Amino acid sequence: MSAGERYQVVIGLEVHVELSTRTKAFCSCPVAFGAPPNTLVCPVCLGLPGALPVVNERAVEYAVRAGLALDCRIAATSLFARKNYFYPDLPKGYQITQYESPLASGGHIEFASNAEQRRVGITRVHLEEDTGKLVHRPGAGSLVDFNRSGVPLLEIVSEPDIRSAEEARLYLQELRTLLLLAGISDVRMEEGSLRCDANISLRAAGGPPGTLVEVKNMNSFRSVKLALEHEAARQARLLSAGERIVRETRHWDETRGITFSSRSKEEAHDYRYFPEPDLPPLVLDPGYVERVRAAMPELPAARRERLATAYQLPTYDTAVLTSSPQLYQLFEALIAAKLPPKDSSNWVMGEGARHGDACNWDPHKVIVLTTGLRDTLSLIKKGVISGSTGKSVLDEVCSTGLTAEEVVSKRGLHQISDQGLLTQVVQEVIASQPDVVADFRAGKEKALTFLVGQVMKRTAGRANPALVNRLLRERLMGGTLGGAPGGDPGGGRS
Ligand code: ZN
Ligand code: MN
Repeated sequence: MSAGERYQVVIGLEVHVELSTRTKAFCSCPVAFGAPPNTLVCPVCLGLPGALPVVNERAVEYAVRAGLALDCRIAATSLFARKNYFYPDLPKGYQITQYESPLASGGHIEFASNAEQRRVGITRVHLEEDTGKLVHRPGAGSLVDFNRSGVPLLEIVSEPDIRSAEEARLYLQELRTLLLLAGISDVRMEEGSLRCDANISLRAAGGPPGTLVEVKNMNSFRSVKLALEHEAARQARLLSAGERIVRETRHWDETRGITFSSRSKEEAHDYRYFPEPDLPPLVLDPGYVERVRAAMPELPAARRERLATAYQLPTYDTAVLTSSPQLYQLFEALIAAKLPPKDSSNWVMGEGARHGDACNWDPHKVIVLTTGLRDTLSLIKKGVISGSTGKSVLDEVCSTGLTAEEVVSKRGLHQISDQGLLTQVVQEVIASQPDVVADFRAGKEKALTFLVGQVMKRTAGRANPALVNRLLRERLMGGTLGGAPGGDPGGGRS
């Protein structure tokens, strides 16, 4: 049974993003991933009595950048509030957040879904603090690490404009790229710096809004899609059977592929929100917002558009190169070296991505990869090596740190563009394949491909293919065709 037929799926996403500031939101403790537990703490982020918070200016700037990137209105005055609840990872007993007056509101995100341009509204973007982290040790109780306590978070809430699980995934992907390019977060869902909760309901055609169910614990883009697909189908099944949907929070269980009920959903009034008395209203003058706007980096839509028009790249390439700053930087380095755009894009998306992922984009190795890719492509462009040799040259550059030129001379990989040498091989091949030669002369064009293959085989793949083609044609057609000797594209190096 398909949920999409009788019911319209209505999804809104609530995303939390850790900002990549150097220090926490309301104290000067460093923000770092993987430090020993409880080493990045102070009285403020431990919630000790009498400790007072001070707003991190950089966190505010990042929040404004996100608001602008999402086309929001930036509030001249926004307020901090306390959200009260008890949980062992929350030492103060409340979270500092924004409630009635968020920093930014009324924006949108656009993305393509099935060749259709979709626009999803952004209700609000506000600044808040993260909680600590509980570590559960089977049989040994639970431990708490407050290193994450007070790390600045953005909460980004969408309008319920998303109409399918796949659209939810596309929305998240675009949001991730946007925040990445805005330079405010590393948005790694696996490391928890981007977290996503969803509100999902089903609405019968023309009927009233359905009951909202909140889905939590989706830890990857793929699990967002799977969880929401599953949840839409579950609700459709209940409604078709005449049952009611319970307003509740459900957790996604990745291994079982189901959502399960975890608690009935709190209402906002359960949190007893009230204005944070320790922080003054956040006042942003228009000049400040304009300065942040003027310093905004290039955003995804603009970058894709520029890549398409400046380099005639297909939509797929512009999307892949924009989705990753690392791939984009590799591409930029190749363009700066005046290498052909489409070849550069292919190499970056293929070999560049493969080597980059293999070293987890270690900055030192990326330097080697960048120059290696640039030099390898230059050697191919100059005809010194063939495209297929290029891949193994780059492999060796990345594993040894040698330059591409060093690898080529050490291994004797130069492409053979010596006309005299190749003519000799071509004549040998023609002599050894009388049947194929006869086929070609009888008009079978395909026979030529076979003969080119034979020449490549005898030269261990190093022959310049364009030259081999020309030489074969000349010999087979009586030597009267083709260009002047010495005009080969390979420049005569061997
Ligand atoms: Zn602190
Ligand atoms: Mn929140």
